Amino acid sequence: MNATQSLIQTDIDYEREGFQTSVLRLPYSHNRSAYGHIPIPIAVLKQGHGPTLLLTGGNHGDEYEGPVALMKLMQEMPKMQINGRLIVIPALNFPAFLNGSRTSPIDSANLNRVFPGSRNGSVTEMIAHYVDTELFPRADVIFDLHAGGASFNHLPALLAALPRDTTLHDNYQTLVEAFAAPHTMVMDLLGEDRTYGAAAERQGKLFLCGEFGGYASCSVDGLAIVEDGLRRLMHTLGIAPVAVPDRAPATRLLRVEGAQHYLFAPSRGVFEPCFELGQQVAAGQLAGRLFNPHAPWEPACELHFERAGLVVCIRSFAAVEPGDCIALLAADTQWQ
Ligand SMILES: [Zn+2]
Repeated sequence: MNATQSLIQTDIDYEREGFQTSVLRLPYSHNRSAYGHIPIPIAVLKQGHGPTLLLTGGNHGDEYEGPVALMKLMQEMPKMQINGRLIVIPALNFPAFLNGSRTSPIDSANLNRVFPGSRNGSVTEMIAHYVDTELFPRADVIFDLHAGGASFNHLPALLAALPRDTTLHDNYQTLVEAFAAPHTMVMDLLGEDRTYGAAAERQGKLFLCGEFGGYASCSVDGLAIVEDGLRRLMHTLGIAPVAVPDRAPATRLLRVEGAQHYLFAPSRGVFEPCFELGQQVAAGQLAGRLFNPHAPWEPACELHFERAGLVVCIRSFAAVEPGDCIALLAADTQWQ
């Protein structure tokens, strides 16, 4: 082993034909377990020479449609006939997943904010480093499945980002149309580049992400969208035969256009919303009122939407602190 290779080890041989299950052994030496590791479950199915699809869930530990869909897929994999390779990890940040929390209970890190990670870093940074150095290079197409988590509910949406290499745009749009989520959203993370997706794109990979529910629950509708979409995606890639009606429904293309599409809390308080998830709102429309619990006789602070758009994401908790995101909007758009 050299000084740059990940310290995470596995019995999986990514080049071997057939079905394998095992774990990624994440070293974790602590008071209760001096020579211990955290075993992160993984399954790989390889048959023939088709493309490699990397599927991950549980990047955040309180989002469930992706992990449930991938656990169900894992149970089908032994009898699947494919041409290519599936690498499936239902719960990538496994400590966070077992804890049912967005961030890791061990180092408090958000896996989706530590890429490209660090070989010698904290446990969450080590997971990111393994993904960036061992999994991304093996993958042709990468799909990281998310939801709103405990603090948000999200309209089911594929998050799309056209690759920098424009010669790949047609391939990418074909995958987006095959997955056919009810909404496809071009996200704007306001410059954030420490995400899994940003790291995948730096390696020139076709990367898909998605939000399929929220409230730290598993939505029946969101799960069905993920499962049907994955089958169509694998079929379109030529990896697997399709086992659902292959006529993809139309997707509504949306774009988050900068900070004006975010609604943030300006101060501490209790928020009364005047909108619902999935509602189309106008610029200047009243978004809600923020009450001061220490002086409830004072007039509530009225918040307004800066721009028009569809409400794609709403905060779960009425209690807010300055800077909390209360809602996210997106506007109808076209591919550019
Ligand atoms: Zn997430």
